[in-house]
Amino acid sequence: MSFKSLGLSAELLRALAERSYSKPTPVQTQAIPVILKGRDILAGAQTGTGKTAGFALPLLQLLSSRTVVKGKNCVRALILAPTRELAAQVEESVAAYGKYLPLKSAAIYGGVKIDPQIGVLRRGVDILVATPGRLLDHVQQRTVDLSQVEVLVLDEADRMLDMGFIRDIRKVIQLLPRRRQNLLFFATFSRDIKDLVDELLNSPILVEAARRNAAADSVEQLVHPVDRTRKRALLSFLIGSRGWRQVLVFTRTKHGANRLTKQLEHDGISAAAIHGNKSQGTRTRTLEEFKKGGIRVLVATDIASRGIDIQQLPHVVNFELPNVPEDYVHRIGRTGRAKSNGTAVSLVCIEEREQLREIERLLKHPIPEQIIEGFEPDPSIEPTALSNGQTQPGAFKVHNPKTQKWRRPSVPR
Ligand code: AMP
Repeated sequence: MSFKSLGLSAELLRALAERSYSKPTPVQTQAIPVILKGRDILAGAQTGTGKTAGFALPLLQLLSSRTVVKGKNCVRALILAPTRELAAQVEESVAAYGKYLPLKSAAIYGGVKIDPQIGVLRRGVDILVATPGRLLDHVQQRTVDLSQVEVLVLDEADRMLDMGFIRDIRKVIQLLPRRRQNLLFFATFSRDIKDLVDELLNSPILVEAARRNAAADSVEQLVHPVDRTRKRALLSFLIGSRGWRQVLVFTRTKHGANRLTKQLEHDGISAAAIHGNKSQGTRTRTLEEFKKGGIRVLVATDIASRGIDIQQLPHVVNFELPNVPEDYVHRIGRTGRAKSNGTAVSLVCIEEREQLREIERLLKHPIPEQIIEGFEPDPSIEPTALSNGQTQPGAFKVHNPKTQKWRRPSVPR
């Protein structure tokens, strides 16, 4: 399955190629054709499944294919989101996918001055991403006109309901034309969502992002080959699409741990880093928070992970393979204790192949490999000389099968 075969236009395909999206994710494969047909959808998809592109791409295509004469301040598509962060992130994606189309998008949310937003709306916005409260402020001030909205998207609808936005949402819906397309995304289905669905959607098609399959459940160790630059997206995808709740992720460096934490937060996944630069007090608090389930992902370096003892930690991810093969064993030893079926997943780029071989030598067996659809490594990428990830030459050890010892290779520094 390709984006082209889903019926997307050349402008969108070009933007996708620039972002190196090679294949649609399952939720995209299901949602895009249905939305393009103008149908309502009800989609169960969490962050990380590619849901944003799942609605943004067909939305952009539908709007660009129709010619309309619209009034001043009129919006053609309205995306409601629960938080500022999500609204900003969704708008960023819409703008990126639509960069070759003559459609304007904007995000409006509370907590910032309203005047600049009024200016933006006055200049004309086709696709508006908004949090419900601030949108109603604009409605009151008559700075936005929702009477010509063709498509309504409720992103993370369950979270909006949890946050008490139902009355605001109802008020907004009253301002929309009756004839319109509705797309509703949720992570967890509830009674409240059902009521909203009955009220809002018109013979919706149900779309569900693939959940993890049973075979993968029993696999303890797995390698996902992936390009280095795609690791972060793959990690968000795995966490989101498989509904992982407590994930310990290993990076090689403190800097890498900090950076990854920020990126995960940006993807809407709560994360915190622990490493040698954090005080003991901070580390202890972070760990407690993680154990309680307040933080979904803990990003750690090998040194910092030494004191971590979590019973039945379900998921360990090697975002980068360790420099020392023995550390791999320490890392994965933290999952699947006491009969729980934990998984230890390693995201391995071509530059880390040698490290992987060393680990397999230490384990005395190969680790099964599985390529994740949509994240296939680019076959044209060659490993860079001595790259070993971003490792400095000589920072890893080599196993000598004759002596059964590990030594640092003699590489000139
Ligand atoms: P989302 O679930 O919309 O928050 O997307 C999660 C992450 O997956 C984001 O970093 C997207 O940029 C990325 N992504 C979305 N669709 C694809 C795709 N078809 N191929 C690769 N990455 C994708």
